[in-house]
Amino acid sequence: MRAMVFEGVGRPLRAVRRDVPQAGPGQLLLRVEACGICRTDLHLLDGEVPITDPPRILGHQIVGIVQPGGERVGVPWLGWTCGQCRYCTSGRENLCERARFTGRDIDGGFAEYAVADERFCFAIPAEWPPERAAPLLCAGLIGYRALRMCGDAQRLGLYGFGAAAHIIAQVARWQGCDVYAFTRPGDEPAQALARELGAVWAGSSEQRPPEPLDAAIIFAPDGALVPVALDAVAAGATVVCGGIHMSDIPAFAYERLWHERVLRSVANLTRADGTEFLALAPRVPVRTHVTTYPLEAANEALDDLRRGRLTGAGVIVI
Ligand SMILES: [Zn+2]
Ligand SMILES: [Zn+2]
Repeated sequence: MRAMVFEGVGRPLRAVRRDVPQAGPGQLLLRVEACGICRTDLHLLDGEVPITDPPRILGHQIVGIVQPGGERVGVPWLGWTCGQCRYCTSGRENLCERARFTGRDIDGGFAEYAVADERFCFAIPAEWPPERAAPLLCAGLIGYRALRMCGDAQRLGLYGFGAAAHIIAQVARWQGCDVYAFTRPGDEPAQALARELGAVWAGSSEQRPPEPLDAAIIFAPDGALVPVALDAVAAGATVVCGGIHMSDIPAFAYERLWHERVLRSVANLTRADGTEFLALAPRVPVRTHVTTYPLEAANEALDDLRRGRLTGAGVIVI
C-alpha cells in the first residue's frame, strides 16, 4: 500500500510502499477513504508532541471501510486505553496513564489501509461523504469537549477560526449561543466563514469584543492569547485551551484572573464524547467546509495548515 511516513523531527513525511497491515484479535482492517489533517500533526512533525518510535504513519481522523464487511467507521485520536488506571475507572479515559494515540503511537490514516482497535471506532452513517465526516473525529469531537467545558455561556468567543472552531461555531449557534470569532489579523476568509456560519461578530484577535464574553475557547496554539482571552471575558467566565500544545503563556497580573475567572485545558477525548457528538452532529446539522488533497500531497496540506492558507478543515482523500 501507499503511505506517508514520519521518520524524524523536522523532516517532511516520506511517500513509501508498505505491506497492507493485518488486523489482530479485536482489531479492524480499514480501507482508508479519507483522513483529516490536524494542528497536532504539525506538533508531531516539529517534535513538540513526541513520537517515541518512528517511523510512524500520522493521521488521526480516519474514515474507512471495514475489510471485509463494508461498514463505514471512523477512528479518532484515542486509539487504546488500559481500562484499569484511576482515570479509566472513573470515566476519564481521556487521561489514561497508558493511553495510545492514533497517528502517534499507532499507525494512522495517511495510508491506503489502517488497523484499529474496534472498541475505539465509531459508526459513520453510510450516507455521509467520508471527506466531510473526517474533520468531526478530532476537530469536531475534541472541540465539542471544549465547548462543554464552557457550561451555559451565552456569549462564546472562539480564538483561532480553523477546523475545530468552524464546527463548534455551528453547534454553539444551534444551542442558542452568540458566537464571537477571533482570527489572525487580516484573515478575511476565516472571518467571512465565521459570519456565514452565524457568528454575531468576527474580527482579529487583537480586537476586544463589543461585549464581555461568558466563555472563550482558544484553538490557536499561541499562549499569548491566554491573557488576551482573560481580558475579553466577564467575571466568573471560563477560558478553555483546546489544543495539545501551546507556545509559552506570558506572565500576567493576577487581576486578569481575579473574580473567579477559570483557565483550563482540555485533553483528548473519551469514547462517550465521540458517541454523544456523532449523534448530535447530524441534528445540528454540522456542515464541514473542507479542502481535499491526494495522499501524496500530505506535506503540502500540512504546510497550508501551518501557513494559515486553509479555511475550514483540510482532508487527505485516498
Ligand atoms: Zn487532532
Ligand atoms: Zn487507563
